[in-house]
Amino acid sequence: MTNENLWKAVLAQIQLDISEANFNTWFKHTNISNVDKNEVTISVPNSFVKNWLANKYHKNILKAIKELNKDIKNINYAIDSSLSNNTKEEKTKSKEEGSVNQMEFLNFTTDYETGLNPKYTFDNFVIGPFNELAHAAAFAVSENPGSMYNPLFIYSKTGLGKTHLLQAVGNKIKEKNGNKVLYIQAQKFISEIISSIRNNKMEEFKNKYKDIDVLIIDDIQFLSGKEKTQEEFFHTFNELYEKNKQIILSSDRSPRSINSLTDRLRSRFEGGMITDIIYPDTETRSAILKTKAQEKNFFLSDEICYYIAESTKKNIRELEGILNKIIVHQQINKVPLNINNVKDILKKIIQTSPTSYSFDKIMKCVTNFYDINEREITGSSRKKEVVKSRQIIIYLLRKELNYSYPHIAKKIGGKDHTTIIYSFNKIEKELKNNSEVKEELSFIKENLVNV
Ligand code: ADP
Ligand code: MG
Repeated sequence: MTNENLWKAVLAQIQLDISEANFNTWFKHTNISNVDKNEVTISVPNSFVKNWLANKYHKNILKAIKELNKDIKNINYAIDSSLSNNTKEEKTKSKEEGSVNQMEFLNFTTDYETGLNPKYTFDNFVIGPFNELAHAAAFAVSENPGSMYNPLFIYSKTGLGKTHLLQAVGNKIKEKNGNKVLYIQAQKFISEIISSIRNNKMEEFKNKYKDIDVLIIDDIQFLSGKEKTQEEFFHTFNELYEKNKQIILSSDRSPRSINSLTDRLRSRFEGGMITDIIYPDTETRSAILKTKAQEKNFFLSDEICYYIAESTKKNIRELEGILNKIIVHQQINKVPLNINNVKDILKKIIQTSPTSYSFDKIMKCVTNFYDINEREITGSSRKKEVVKSRQIIIYLLRKELNYSYPHIAKKIGGKDHTTIIYSFNKIEKELKNNSEVKEELSFIKENLVNV
């Protein structure tokens, strides 16, 4: 295997493990510059990337490399400053040689000032019954910012296209009207507020936000429980809203389901247009896969597309990840792709990503979801949220991990095991009659798969 193919295969794996933004940020201008018996040297553009890869992603990289070459024991990171600005060269080169640059999609970059990435457009957004309304609302906003739906609030589970849609609106408005657009992840927005407060720079913060025409905040659920941030956001929101500036928000759940959100903020969100995206059905997933393959100049038969769509019941991000793996497999093996080797590839992917739950995971996901402290679960608090979380944890431990009632009792702070039985039965009953609990549990399970 050439160094280039080895690195492509490693990247395809890592792309499944980490978020897209991180992937683009940290892995774009990297390559394998040397393989020497049991040591691989990865070249990176600067020391910042070097430190980050070595500290944060070393394990992922080593694991992915070892899967492809068992002999590798060690990784070196070397700085090669020429890597930081050669994207254009790479592009031209691959075109001259007439080769299909299947990884060309890596070359888009996020604009520092607007936070927008031109790779997300309405053009490459597939519309289906699952996202039709969200798309229509987003498109209407992009045609008439500030006047139709304000704010526009889109929610869905992960990997179903929220970021893509939000970015597409931003890109279009910026291109068409030259308006001042700002896209920002809620986590980043929160840390901006915190550091502005700490450094006495709230004036600067306010000035930055008051001139914006279109403010897009992604994954707003992260504001949950952060009162000071919510307060500042409320002011920013009002100021923009009163000037008919467009505000677009996304979240992994509806405003009503975001815990610890102040009422006034919730009612602001509910004052605009709220729309969700659900899971696409098999046909739509198959169509999306086909489109994605075409975008990458890769041919996939309808039969294969359908097979993949049917055997992976998950989100679009995962569908793309599988496609990337198949492309890499093809580049390395160079045998015609047929349904059997696709089956083999899928089998391998499923094997390498076990979705086993554990006590710690269940504890973490449930307490995160209800925004409470893990210690409260094992303690004796009778607060409503705590009691509910405790019951859900008990239910999951029994249902998913097959724990005995006394064992559960011991694990969550020595409660009486009749309490445990009562809690389990209560949730079981509520799942039949109470759609809220059902919805919440399905969120939690979704997160359990994703942690
Ligand atoms: P979310 O923000 O909801 O987690 P993303 O917007 O990041 O999801 O989407 C995950 C991946 O799937 C992205 O690469 C995105 O381009 C792609 N994607 C999602 N929905 C669609 C769609 N309807 N058509 C084309 N690509 C899509
Ligand atoms: Mg997103």
